[in-house]
Amino acid sequence: MEKILISACLYGHAVRYDAGHCLLDDPVISQWRKEGRLVEICPEMAGGLPTPRPPCEIDEKTGRIMDEHGTDNSAAFEKGAQLALDLVQAQGIKYALLKENSPSCGVNFIYDGRFRSTKRVGSGITASVLKDHGVLVFSECDLDKLKSHMGVE
Ligand code: SF4
Repeated sequence: MEKILISACLYGHAVRYDAGHCLLDDPVISQWRKEGRLVEICPEMAGGLPTPRPPCEIDEKTGRIMDEHGTDNSAAFEKGAQLALDLVQAQGIKYALLKENSPSCGVNFIYDGRFRSTKRVGSGITASVLKDHGVLVFSECDLDKLKSHMGVE
């Protein structure tokens, strides 16, 4: 049975910076959950950050991951990405379903690093590391594509 790494907030855990979640309410997610296919991780919490926490964005020039107060949280983000990679490699996971726009989990888009609610094309740290190691990474906006990889109509 093919397993799928999923952002813990999409699974419904209250792990976001604002202590909320982004439950992905879809019948196929419920089915995969019942089948035990979903392996959850919040890379930011796994890397040692608390919830709630100040929002972070990736500085486009330096690549550092800063919070809105100017604290450099790159080490925690990199640790979380490594732990996500360790998890997929330990469990032979080839697919990931990650939350778009996050500096960790964003697949196609992230915020532009200036804390002005503007997005740019790019990936979060965890999504990049997983892609670089051959994991097929999808955002919640691409759930239909993941479904078709899983053979779901
Ligand atoms: S790091 Fe990923 S799993 Fe954790 S709250 Fe942010 S988007 Fe969700």
